[in-house]
Amino acid sequence: MKKTDTIIIGAGPVGLFAVHQLGIKGLKSIVIDNLDKAGGQCIELYPDKPIYDIPAVPECTGEELTNKLLEQIKPFKTEFFLNERVEEVKQDKENWIIKTNNNNAFSAPNIIIAGGVGSFEPRKLSVKEAEKFEEDFLFYAVKDKEKFKNKNISIFGGGDSALDWALELSKFSKINLIHRRDEFRGAPHTLSEIKKLEKEGKISIKTPCQLESIEGKDRINSITIKFDDGKTEQIKTDMILSFFGLIMKLGPIAEWGLNMNKKTIEVNSKNFETNKKGIFAVGDICSYPGKLKLILSGFHEVALASVECFKRARPNEKYRFEFTTSSKTIQGRLGKK
Ligand SMILES: Cc1cc2nc3c(=O)[nH]c(=O)nc-3n(C[C@H](O)[C@H](O)[C@H](O)COP(=O)(O)OP(=O)(O)OC[C@H]3O[C@@H](n4cnc5c(N)ncnc54)[C@H](O)[C@@H]3O)c2cc1C
Repeated sequence: MKKTDTIIIGAGPVGLFAVHQLGIKGLKSIVIDNLDKAGGQCIELYPDKPIYDIPAVPECTGEELTNKLLEQIKPFKTEFFLNERVEEVKQDKENWIIKTNNNNAFSAPNIIIAGGVGSFEPRKLSVKEAEKFEEDFLFYAVKDKEKFKNKNISIFGGGDSALDWALELSKFSKINLIHRRDEFRGAPHTLSEIKKLEKEGKISIKTPCQLESIEGKDRINSITIKFDDGKTEQIKTDMILSFFGLIMKLGPIAEWGLNMNKKTIEVNSKNFETNKKGIFAVGDICSYPGKLKLILSGFHEVALASVECFKRARPNEKYRFEFTTSSKTIQGRLGKK
């Protein structure tokens, strides 16, 4: 079991800045996120959109903000556990123990929940056979491109992920791109590349249709799709990739005995602690009178929560407020001379 001073749940902008606020106070943290990358909503929902209300940054995209936050916390060499969802919390005297769906366990006196609107999870295919093929033949993300070499792949979806992967995987596999509408939402230039490959026989586009069934016992042999006019077609398929977007699930955090207000966690606005000592909630997931779901509000919340985290992690030390401009200790922690 890994021990640390604070376990941060969520690698969105607020979770990332929590690493900084804890780090400059000399506290260690680890970060867990269900997604395969840091950035939360900024990277998952609007990486290219400009944000105009980050103090002293007149304009930056969601991706640029994430990269800057990651750069700012580099000196702390924080360990990230991505693709892991936090499932369970248990108390062990003064410490909290967290378990993830990958069976990793962490122990710390503090937990900062920066879970935003919940963990982002793929919207799954609804046909009943889908689940048994998951992980081996049916995927909602591509983690290892090698697995998809020299295969018959059926890709579902009409957005950028479906189009980008159809293009990429067509370099070494036969692709069926299947969408329930005739129009695709993905980038027009990707679509025109795909149309070129369709003419060359490398990609086959099937619209407007939906998945009807998956055939196969221990592996997928074929799929059957149903067109809007009622006709069906069986397609030889080894692997399925489905990109129907993400849904947000608050998941098990809602069952941890924390005081909830609709889908948010109630905190006090002095140090953003919940009704459980040592468990804090910050960013979009917390609620208190006057709460604004803005990134800058989350930054303020972690600054205050980290002070209380310090007091719990270092009960025998006195907390001293210091400016980064004048504290040699903080500058040392940031690797500055
Ligand atoms: C289109 C759009 C535009 C926006 N524009 C602005 C803007 O201009 N200015 C502004 O200030 N705000 C803006 N916002 C809001 C802003 O993005 C949010 O306030 C901010 O992302 C909240 O950050 P967070 O770190 O609290 O949560 P999030 O960004 O939601 O990150 C939470 C992370 O926690 C992870 N997580 C949750 N539960 C678990 C679990 N159990 N286990 C593991 N991981 C978990 C999630 O996967 C996610 O990565 C915008 C939002 C949207 C959707």
